[in-house]
Amino acid sequence: MHIPQVWFKLFASCFLVKGDAESLIYDTERGAFYPIPDEVAHLLEQTENKDVATVKATMPEAEKGLMDDFLQQFVEAELGFFTQTPECFPAIDLEWDYPAIISNAILEFDVDISYEVKHVIEELDELGCQAMQWRILYPMSATLLEDYIRCLEKKRVRQVEILLPFELTYQQPVLQSLVDTYARISRIVLYAAPSDSVDPGVSVGIYHRKKDIRKDPVEIIHTDRFYANLEIFSEAQQHNVGLNRKVCIDRTGTIRNYLNHATTFGNVREQRIRPMVCTDAFRGKWFVSNGMIEGCKTCAYRYACVNNSDLNQEAGKWYKTTPCNYKDIPTGSPR
Ligand code: SF4
Repeated sequence: MHIPQVWFKLFASCFLVKGDAESLIYDTERGAFYPIPDEVAHLLEQTENKDVATVKATMPEAEKGLMDDFLQQFVEAELGFFTQTPECFPAIDLEWDYPAIISNAILEFDVDISYEVKHVIEELDELGCQAMQWRILYPMSATLLEDYIRCLEKKRVRQVEILLPFELTYQQPVLQSLVDTYARISRIVLYAAPSDSVDPGVSVGIYHRKKDIRKDPVEIIHTDRFYANLEIFSEAQQHNVGLNRKVCIDRTGTIRNYLNHATTFGNVREQRIRPMVCTDAFRGKWFVSNGMIEGCKTCAYRYACVNNSDLNQEAGKWYKTTPCNYKDIPTGSPR
């Protein structure tokens, strides 16, 4: 009697990523990570090319039941399924592209800001920028802030995250009114706050963060900064997601890949942004994916981590200049 071959497949939106310290299944549809033991990751890897019986035939008798248990758990968790026709379920194409030169920008504002904000927003719009972060380093008046937000009207920018100092004397209703009135505001973060929390006095979109970005611009890597989504997973295959298609303009108007990077690319007071961000020098780091960087290339979060550390290359190997503080993974240059 012919016994049909049974295959186990992860859903097309779920991806196995093996790392040195841990392995994960990314569920990009639900935005979740499922940690799995190494031996299970190894088994799953084999099921990509072999049917279940063939994989089990290579295992000691005592472990076969274990494999059944795990695969059943994945089915119950809606991560995968059994099938006799694996060829009917092709993998998702992970090719990534973006239909514009710049996708996101960070602008720094200070009391002595030396560039024309409205003009810069116009230029970024021409470059296709759809997301912005505004890092406001002083107690900007609500009137001026609203004035800047209005500059986004009729622009392609779909979302702006606004970081304001906690000591700001805005009344909560003023902040809430801004969030409610302007759909482009994805959230307002009050930094240098007494605690990390959601603002207790308002409904949505306003957060408190203890970290003072004026004193400590280095990004803290934390699990809530890992994103299990298809867009980032695809982009991260070939690109450095923390830097790719990004431009940063500090309070003096200086252009960089990221605010705390050493290399500069002119100043918006003297140059247009487009020619600067189109140079090979500016774009080079866009293509250094986590998968190419020492320490990161064996990290299970390499396709989810938007860390924007500067990079350097030594003896043909890439390093992040800021060591990763996530579980003390030593990505920093050995220098
Ligand atoms: S910086 Fe590198 S090692 Fe650290 S979490 Fe991100 S990908 Fe992993």
